[in-house]
Amino acid sequence: MVEINLSSIYKKYDNAENYSVTDFNLDILDNEFIVFVGPSGCGKSTTLRMIAGLEEITDGELYIDGNMVNDTPPKDRDIAMVFQNYALYPHMSVFDNMAFGLKLKKTPKNEIKERVEHAAELLQITDLLDRKPAALSGGQRQRVALGRSVVRDPKVFLMDEPLSNLDAKLRVHMRKEIAKLHNELNATMIYVTHDQTEAMTLADRIVIMNAGVIQQIGTPFEVYNSP
Ligand code: ADP
Ligand code: ADP
Repeated sequence: MVEINLSSIYKKYDNAENYSVTDFNLDILDNEFIVFVGPSGCGKSTTLRMIAGLEEITDGELYIDGNMVNDTPPKDRDIAMVFQNYALYPHMSVFDNMAFGLKLKKTPKNEIKERVEHAAELLQITDLLDRKPAALSGGQRQRVALGRSVVRDPKVFLMDEPLSNLDAKLRVHMRKEIAKLHNELNATMIYVTHDQTEAMTLADRIVIMNAGVIQQIGTPFEVYNSP
């Protein structure tokens, strides 16, 4: 069971005059698919980065599994973050890109191989494992970036517009892949997007933000059929 509770979270950047996130309250259920939507600058990425531990929380409490984690470093949070600018290591093969984090953690070689092959199978990139990133299409690179997170087997995935650099057709395809991944991984997803269709098709619940505050929380049906 992994639940995430954000309790009256505030964020003010040191160099900023105003708060970027104000009184953010949300209980995220185990295995839930949460989507954040809202205009550019409304605080979506900031909230995601606070959950990941990449940004300090100014005020309020963040709980994972009932434990307050405000001061827990990112590596101890069992959370993986996938960005839109998925920087792969250009000199490494796909296999080594996916294995890199596990090697740092001194995971045994045979286990690394097993995990990378399993993730590659899920993401349908088994035949690409020997290639270098330069020899991949945009969609294939995005799969590898996802694969790097999947091998870690985290309980929570944070995705910040992971598909926004892909063309429309590929975006639709990868959206379905992400839905499938969510079903197969038994993980909680927190996903930021500008794309209303993505939000509607992926979300269990949508969180609509504006100017640092939550405007509405609901199922896609509730959110898009409310007056
Ligand atoms: P997005 O709207 O997609 O989050 P932005 O262009 O707002 O992207 O931000 C890109 C990067 O610049 C982010 O890493 C963000 O933290 C940083 N950034 C955004 N606004 C500011 C700011 N006012 N001062 C410093 N860094 C900022
Ligand atoms: P979104 O992801 O919804 O586009 P962000 O979380 O990136 O929004 O930004 C929320 C607000 O915080 C914006 O006003 C942005 O300019 C500001 N901001 C983001 N990152 C920084 C930063 N590193 N320093 C100062 N201000 C920032």
